[in-house]
Amino acid sequence: MVEEFKNEKFIDFLVPENHQKMELALKEVKQELGKEYEIIIGGKKIKTKEKFQSYNPSNKDEVIGILQQPSHKEVRQAIEVAFEKFKGWSKEPAEKRAEYLFKTASIMRENKFKLSAWLVYEVGKSWAEADGDIAEAIDFLEFYGREALRYAGPQPLTKIPGEKNELKYIPLGVGAVIPPWNFPMSILTGMTSASFVTGNTVILKPSSDSPVTGAKLMELLEETGLPEGVVNFVPGRGSVIGDTLVSHPHTRFIAFTGSMAVGLHINELASKVQQEQIWIKRVLAEMGGKNAIIVDEDVNLTTAADGVIASAFGYQGQKCSACSRAVVLEAIYNKFLDMLVERGKQIKIGSPVDPTNYMGPVINERAFKAILNYIEIGKKEGHLVYGGKAIPGPGYFIEPTIVADITSEARIAQEEIFGPVLAVIKASNFDEALTIANSTMYGLTGSVYTNNSAHLEKAKTVFHCGNLYLNRKCTGAFVGGHPFGGFNMSGTDSKAGGRDYLLLFTQAKAISEAL
Ligand code: NAD
Repeated sequence: MVEEFKNEKFIDFLVPENHQKMELALKEVKQELGKEYEIIIGGKKIKTKEKFQSYNPSNKDEVIGILQQPSHKEVRQAIEVAFEKFKGWSKEPAEKRAEYLFKTASIMRENKFKLSAWLVYEVGKSWAEADGDIAEAIDFLEFYGREALRYAGPQPLTKIPGEKNELKYIPLGVGAVIPPWNFPMSILTGMTSASFVTGNTVILKPSSDSPVTGAKLMELLEETGLPEGVVNFVPGRGSVIGDTLVSHPHTRFIAFTGSMAVGLHINELASKVQQEQIWIKRVLAEMGGKNAIIVDEDVNLTTAADGVIASAFGYQGQKCSACSRAVVLEAIYNKFLDMLVERGKQIKIGSPVDPTNYMGPVINERAFKAILNYIEIGKKEGHLVYGGKAIPGPGYFIEPTIVADITSEARIAQEEIFGPVLAVIKASNFDEALTIANSTMYGLTGSVYTNNSAHLEKAKTVFHCGNLYLNRKCTGAFVGGHPFGGFNMSGTDSKAGGRDYLLLFTQAKAISEAL
């Protein structure tokens, strides 16, 4: 009997023993940087002529790992191997498939410090953010393992006299799993494990900004003895191999998390039926956000300011759930703005190897330039009240940036920036604040700080976002407790870490037998 699901506990790095373990893990991983990782197709490890590298965003010349850049030929080969493998894997009992998830979770737990250290180097996460990412990956494995067992059990049906009826959730086929770099272990593990625990086979294409983290999951899966070919590892630039992966007639579904532009492109391409294709491809696309926190006038301003700062600048604002708009009621606007600036000044930035740095780098040069460009736009659209500059040095460091007096139509209030830039918008009353919060094409997360119970109730129905938080920050969703995913252009309305998520990876077969 499997125990009830519980969220993985976070590591307290203030405990000296944990602090030492993390320092040691960082030293060990440092020694392992720069290694080469192969493509894995049907268990075979393959090297290609063309390579690409993953770099440390805190120290841009430091190579994290060397990866193969597959050609279209290898991508097609991987799909064919997964297609063949599906025939057997899809028939394995759910108990057996779930067992691989529980084993992976257990190995991940044993290697927590080292896995977190990889994230510190590869994507610039602070110790706590990296630990949160690994803990969430463990949660996905434990949660989806249990969910697969639940879906494999008898499903409730209305009794029809003279018949024996049952409903089974069966897998779809080969899935292309395409995760982003910003939760390089948790989202990648969640989408991959949800795919194969339900009996599908997988082509895993990690982000080219975090391919080594993907390779680390492959090492863990290999250690569990997961049969070869169930998960095939094809790292590479999405812009080069993505279309082949998505458009192949044997690709049955695409589980994507990333930007709206790429998600919409995948959705469009997948909708085109190819020769020999005998299904409509399913696309799960979890995309961007432009999340707002409303700060009402009768509220504990200290709690609200702490919540806004943590939501806007935790992991450099590079969370899909991050707050990028603070919508503040006129009566407290000036005071609240001062409090945000005060807190911005306290933030220490630098390499996350040093745990005293709260903020690390942004992910790469392209993001660095795009964010600085948005800051220039913001300076014209409103008043820069804090930050705004890049920090010279070997990494892509940008100050936490607060731009005040922004209108709800301004570009920095409408477009996803995905960096440490907060637009502050004034609202004359609570209804106007809600209208502003709902005024973008997105609908991922949102939060309201208020002591007014009527306002809380109104927000519950009017604030249109997939994850609404009341009197708390808008980041930090827990698997099981906060099923995660947004509305409108934030995605296809799926809920990662929720009880209906695995349905998206299956199709239901009703079997009726006359008695
Ligand atoms: P991205 O869209 O640039 O890349 C995501 C993935 O798509 C990567 O693996 C990339 O290699 C791949 N890709 C790129 N071009 C492709 C193509 N033509 N075909 C197929 N695949 C292609 O996004 P990113 O920069 O990695 O991640 C940041 C974005 O992800 C932000 O917009 C953020 O809001 C979003 N995000 C959303 C959620 C959510 O749950 N809604 C969670 C995390 C991140």
